[in-house]
Amino acid sequence: MPTVTGRAMQVPAAGGAFQLVTREFPEPGPGQVRIRVHACGVCHSDSLTKLGLWPGLQFPRVPGHEVAGVVDAVGADVPLFKSGQRVGLGWHGGHCNYCNPCRRGDFMLCENQPISGIGYDGGYADYVLAPANALAFLPAELADADAAPLLCAGVTTFNSLRNSGARIGDTVAILGIGGLGHLAIQYAAKAGYRTVAIARGQDKGPLARQLGAHIYIDSTTQDPAKELQKLGGANLVLSTITSAKALEWVIADLAPAGKLLVVGAPEDGAIQVNPFPLLLGRRTVSGWPSGTGMDSEDTLNFSALTGVKPMLETYPLEQAEEAYNRMMSGKARFRVVLQVSS
Ligand SMILES: [Zn+2]
Ligand SMILES: [Zn+2]
Repeated sequence: MPTVTGRAMQVPAAGGAFQLVTREFPEPGPGQVRIRVHACGVCHSDSLTKLGLWPGLQFPRVPGHEVAGVVDAVGADVPLFKSGQRVGLGWHGGHCNYCNPCRRGDFMLCENQPISGIGYDGGYADYVLAPANALAFLPAELADADAAPLLCAGVTTFNSLRNSGARIGDTVAILGIGGLGHLAIQYAAKAGYRTVAIARGQDKGPLARQLGAHIYIDSTTQDPAKELQKLGGANLVLSTITSAKALEWVIADLAPAGKLLVVGAPEDGAIQVNPFPLLLGRRTVSGWPSGTGMDSEDTLNFSALTGVKPMLETYPLEQAEEAYNRMMSGKARFRVVLQVSS
């Protein structure tokens, strides 16, 4: 398991352009695995690395937290993984096992978790070194490029839905059809919810139905609150949009005991909440981060079982700048993936 040499697309400083560098990837230390990267998704959260927005981030840094590849080398004290196994690495970049949330088994809330591509170098590279306790096994049915976005966008929507308390047959509205939303619609429909997709424009209707939505609401020509009321109210609204203002109508119009679940990060400030619909109707506003390696593995297996797939645009590793700009433009349909090797 000697040191290997490979390419990396690193961010040299906050806001800097990607640099292609050749560097050494050492043999993994105790508890670590080295992954030969095959594909890595380009996520909006990579802007935290690119723009240096994460507190304490150190440069140069290689982003990438949607990593699909093969175990290349294994460090000491790693009983589960062996060279040649297909694995994935997501946002959750490991956990410490000694903080209070870890001691309670709630690894997603670990107080010392490194984020992949932020706390250590991520998947815009030929190799990644990662803690073994962050990894998921990839099912044989899923290609690397299809698996990659499921390790962040996929697990975030799948895991938030399955922990939301919504039951089979409940009315679940997905707000927004983008990188997260187009997966959330598929998961909600496959999970047995009455799935409502809400987005802007009539042209999204056929796509929403193709993804499995039973009902489509065009928020530019219809009033989503009224339309949801006609359906008896939503038990759950999963928001993947980036506008806090556009969420204000949702809370008052949830079904009694309904929940607004936020997985898309609002870019226009705080969500205003009128407390009376919360109090009188026992409604909830909540959020969800993503999931552990095991949650990712559940997501991948469910996706393989039910045929859930991301819609992709792929770029070679060296075009990380173009790929990143395409993702940030909001015009990609719907996830951007770097094809690193095969
Ligand atoms: Zn992400
Ligand atoms: Zn911990």
